[in-house]
Amino acid sequence: MSNEQLDLLREQLDELNMDLLSLINKRGELVKQVAKSKPNQGPDKKYDPVREHQMLEKIKNQNEGPFQDATIIHLFKEIFKAGLELQEKDYHKEMLVSRKRKSEDTIIDIKGEKIGDGQPHFVCGPCAVESYEQVRKVAEQIKKHGLNMIRGGAFKPRTSPYDFQGLGFEGLEILRRIGDEFDLAVVSEIVRPQDMEKAAEYLDMIQIGARNMQNFEILKAAGEVNKPIILKRGMSATVSDFINAAEYIHSRGNSNIILCERGIRTYETATRNTLDITAVPILKQETHLPVMVDVTHSTGRRDLLIPAAKAAIAIGADAVMAEVHPDPAVALSDQQQQMNFEQFDAFMEAVRK
Ligand code: PEP
Ligand code: MN
Repeated sequence: MSNEQLDLLREQLDELNMDLLSLINKRGELVKQVAKSKPNQGPDKKYDPVREHQMLEKIKNQNEGPFQDATIIHLFKEIFKAGLELQEKDYHKEMLVSRKRKSEDTIIDIKGEKIGDGQPHFVCGPCAVESYEQVRKVAEQIKKHGLNMIRGGAFKPRTSPYDFQGLGFEGLEILRRIGDEFDLAVVSEIVRPQDMEKAAEYLDMIQIGARNMQNFEILKAAGEVNKPIILKRGMSATVSDFINAAEYIHSRGNSNIILCERGIRTYETATRNTLDITAVPILKQETHLPVMVDVTHSTGRRDLLIPAAKAAIAIGADAVMAEVHPDPAVALSDQQQQMNFEQFDAFMEAVRK
């Protein structure tokens, strides 16, 4: 073959490449149009295995080679997959919690604390509500530091059924009393969808714990209540799972959601969980919701609370959660990681610098 002939063949290949490029993109546009005609569907719905099978059969029947059927099917499956990814990207942009959907930051106002306003906010308090006296002592410290919110678990989702399960509604009553006496917003976790409405009578903000991040009935109930929600990241949840969980709440009408990074399960044992610090800017980019970092449950170590809180604020967190107890050694849960009052003083001083 002469050099001229070779150049000619190469030219033809180049032209075909351009034709393929334009056809593939044309196909992408069509796929997007099809997706638009099926509104409000998640990415799963957009994958239609029956339709894909039919298309592949048709292509295979028309195949005259030189490529074998298996090769052709493989190539087309890749093209189909790329189309599906386009639809998924569009789905993420369409989500109610998406930054693409609403570019301004959501600011959640609870008792004058404007979470998401660019200033760091703090939600501190004991792991569990143990008694009125115990919470009162913590409330005094919180006031002393000029903070406006207190947390405390009344329903404790514990790993072991033999561990302290919390005081239940009695705990919520204690929190409400403290909230009124000290003019503090009170936050507590709810673990059953049917308790959501009643809990809203006691609480200023409702927490959904890591173990319930994908309890979809709780998410739906949280979406129907007129209170801000702190949604904690599940310990094995990806950022995408986390955002979808928030979407569940928003889709039911409640847009006041704070996303709380509280560490994820990894092979690392030096800390209780692994604080996924870069999840903070990712969540801030992908959604318009405020982001909180729970330094207590993510580290499980008192000596790491200050550096973890500093890192959280430096990387853009809107709020920090930390546990404080009058006497952590006798706490009914999380003895290892709650701060005593002296440590709390040092913590607040260090993180406010
Ligand atoms: C809590 O904040 O009390 C708690 C149990 O945290 P998590 O759900 O993140 O484990
Ligand atoms: Mn705890």
